[in-house]
Amino acid sequence: MPNTATRLMRQLRHLWVAPELGLLYHRRERRVRLLTSAMMMTMGLVWGAFFVSKNLWLVVGMDAMLFFFGLISLILTCLNRRQAANLVIFGSLLVIVIGNAVLLDPPSALAPRSTHLYLLGLGVAALVAFRDDDPRLRYGVALGCLSAFVVLAATTADFVPGYALPDEIRVPGTWLQTLAATVMLTLLVNVLLTDATERSELEAELVQALVLHQFELHYQPQVDTRGQVLGAEALLRWQHPTRGLVMPGQFIELAEQTGLIVPIGQWVLETACAQLQAWSQDPVRAHWCLAVNISQRQFRQPDFVPRLLELLQHHSFSASRLELELTETMLVEDMEDIKLKMQTLAAHGVTFSLDDFGTGYSSLSYLKRLPLNKLKIDQSFVADVLTEPNSAAIVRMVLALGSSMNLQVIAEGVETPEQRRFLQEHGCQQFQGYLFSRPVPLAEVDKWVRAGPLGQVQPVASPVQVPA
Ligand code: C2E
Ligand code: MG
Ligand code: MG
Repeated sequence: MPNTATRLMRQLRHLWVAPELGLLYHRRERRVRLLTSAMMMTMGLVWGAFFVSKNLWLVVGMDAMLFFFGLISLILTCLNRRQAANLVIFGSLLVIVIGNAVLLDPPSALAPRSTHLYLLGLGVAALVAFRDDDPRLRYGVALGCLSAFVVLAATTADFVPGYALPDEIRVPGTWLQTLAATVMLTLLVNVLLTDATERSELEAELVQALVLHQFELHYQPQVDTRGQVLGAEALLRWQHPTRGLVMPGQFIELAEQTGLIVPIGQWVLETACAQLQAWSQDPVRAHWCLAVNISQRQFRQPDFVPRLLELLQHHSFSASRLELELTETMLVEDMEDIKLKMQTLAAHGVTFSLDDFGTGYSSLSYLKRLPLNKLKIDQSFVADVLTEPNSAAIVRMVLALGSSMNLQVIAEGVETPEQRRFLQEHGCQQFQGYLFSRPVPLAEVDKWVRAGPLGQVQPVASPVQVPA
């Protein structure tokens, strides 16, 4: 029982913290969505019960809707379906605010209408919530809220007589609602401004990071079944002057959105090529390959291929040592262009691997159409390969697929000797993960050579016998 409680607490904490979301404002936005959904459900229940006692069934219907859509948006938020959750929240709140304004709050001689004031806040909230979406959606929802506000502010008609609350409730209600809507509007405008500043600050800092050489590469070894190093994956880190070492999850997405990923990615490729050249001159490391993550926007640049070929020309190492890691989701659009680029680079010896394999949505047909060399089993499957039958089945399937299509397969995120044993027993020949080494700065790469085979379980020293 305490175990179940701990697990539940951990799950709830995970939902709240959402470590899988990189950017700070995405996590904050998710928390606001969770709270809004919970509030919608609570208000739906409380007001629903109140209006049942008043026999106002149209209003009860609206409250039931509020509860139901609150629940749906909560589920969608937990599933990380950001846009769908936003659409449900805004759609239902728009209908409910308009419904309440029309049914319960028609203006009278004593009390003006006030419920419609929330539409102003909702309009500003839409500008924040749909910030990363199509501008038509963002401004469309905001405009919808503001238009509804204008219509309700300019109309005095009582469309459904018999539902209006009595004036003695509506007079203090008008004061309260106006105050609440004004506070809500002020807070939301503040959030909108803070977000915009934070975003442009981070963007400016990223540009600075490039100029001031604050980026660095860390290396994580990839090993064979005997623990011998075959090469490494280059992983980007940002040595921030005040925040310390910043992980790519916290800035790659913004770099993608702003296009900064193109110069950053070019710097990564240049550094990787310089490293491969250095290794090629060292007999112990000359056979090492280096895998580099390539982002979608970077690969789509029309001059990606000529610039990489130029880099290869200026360095003296075998191009087959450079491995470009692409992801499945990248391959969905514009397959012909991607295929052409891959073929051109493959003709010069560059190799390709498919990162996070199994997490994308695309069809497997690209596997035979593209010049791929390797599949990387995503770490989420490796993490629960021993406890989740579905993950184990996917891992076995990828290994079988690799062997039948003559593709190498590497498992990433291997953390325990048991996971490694399972993978090896099912035919996996290459591994990467904390079991062998965490990603380390260049200065620590030497340790892999000195340490001998990586990932060996150290024998437990026999306990010292204390004499009686
Ligand atoms: P990825 O390419 O799938 O990289 C693997 C990630 O898993 C790395 O996180 C690595 O530190 C982590 N990892 C490795 N072994 C283990 C393990 O045993 N357990 C666990 N829990 N994690 C492990 P990192 O360095 O934070 O990178 C995250 C992602 O950022 C990368 O995922 C990649 O998509 C992206 N990224 C990193 N460097 C670059 C880059 O230079 N360019 C681009 N476009 N993306 C990059
Ligand atoms: Mg990778
Ligand atoms: Mg990966």
